[in-house]
Amino acid sequence: MDNLINGKEIALKLRNKLKEEISNLRKIYNQVPGLAVVQVGNIAASSVYVKAKTKNAKEVGIEVIDHHLNETVSEKNLLNLINDLNNDNKVNGILVQLPLPKHIQEKKILDSINPEKDADGFHPVNVGKLSIADNNDESLLIPCTPYGCLLMLKELNIDLVGKNALVIGRSNIVGKPMVQLLIKESCTVTIAHSKTKDIKNLCKSSDILIAAVGRPQMVQGDWIKKNAVVIDVGINRIEVEGSSKNKLVGDVDFEEAKKNASFISPVPGGVGPMTIACLLRNTTIAFKNYKNK
Ligand code: NDP
Repeated sequence: MDNLINGKEIALKLRNKLKEEISNLRKIYNQVPGLAVVQVGNIAASSVYVKAKTKNAKEVGIEVIDHHLNETVSEKNLLNLINDLNNDNKVNGILVQLPLPKHIQEKKILDSINPEKDADGFHPVNVGKLSIADNNDESLLIPCTPYGCLLMLKELNIDLVGKNALVIGRSNIVGKPMVQLLIKESCTVTIAHSKTKDIKNLCKSSDILIAAVGRPQMVQGDWIKKNAVVIDVGINRIEVEGSSKNKLVGDVDFEEAKKNASFISPVPGGVGPMTIACLLRNTTIAFKNYKNK
């Protein structure tokens, strides 16, 4: 399909670039970026993500420091671990896999990460920097999923300036930072959420549509403006009809939407691999920032 935005391929290209960069950094500093991966408990989906992130990180030459904790770990002990990692010179990026067990306040944990080591780009300091920095600031730690979406758009070599962009979803980790990134590209941005009236018509006037909702195939084919670019962030597991098996689908009805879209990203194989590649990019940036201090 020639209007497919192949996240797997674009992510591989980014990882290959990082691999080369890390090999050069090793020559200069005799050290490589270090990523601490903290997982609490054994949620199956978290284990899948942690495994993929670890594998990809090692492949590009990042040193991974694994911390897999029992789900009964106390908030205090987790905070102590983060404090140790904040003070460890071999750790440049800290990733705490979400969700955390209910007895631990996620915000407290994420806020305790040194912003300079914030591999996910979720810390309030980095969120603030993103909103005021200029486009060319290569030292920013940017939330991985929206940055991955932006790189996918850039790969298409289309002019983003003045385009109407609609972001569906206003979460702190996807929707809101996506808006910031699109504003920097001089798009005219609208953000929609569960209280928005008539999303269908907003979609119909959007040149760029980013769906980050978490509702299987909510965005229908006839909502898509002719030749719009569609990036589907959603990951939803649904039952395959007439079978006991599950499959992953996005927030967009891919088969119908691709008939109208000029370019569209699939699920799986779209934004997912980009998110991981951008995590590795942030870790490498954090390493360079530390060395350039
Ligand atoms: P959240 O649940 O935090 O946010 C969902 C957003 O969608 C909210 O702003 C909510 O509105 C809005 N929403 C919910 N229902 C509707 C509706 N019917 N119409 C319009 N808006 C609606 O999710 P995330 O942002 O964390 O993730 C979104 C999706 O992206 C999920 O499927 C998630 O699995 C996936 N994801 C994928 C990643 C990847 O790497 N590919 C990474 C991160 C997430 P309101 O604020 O009003 O409640």
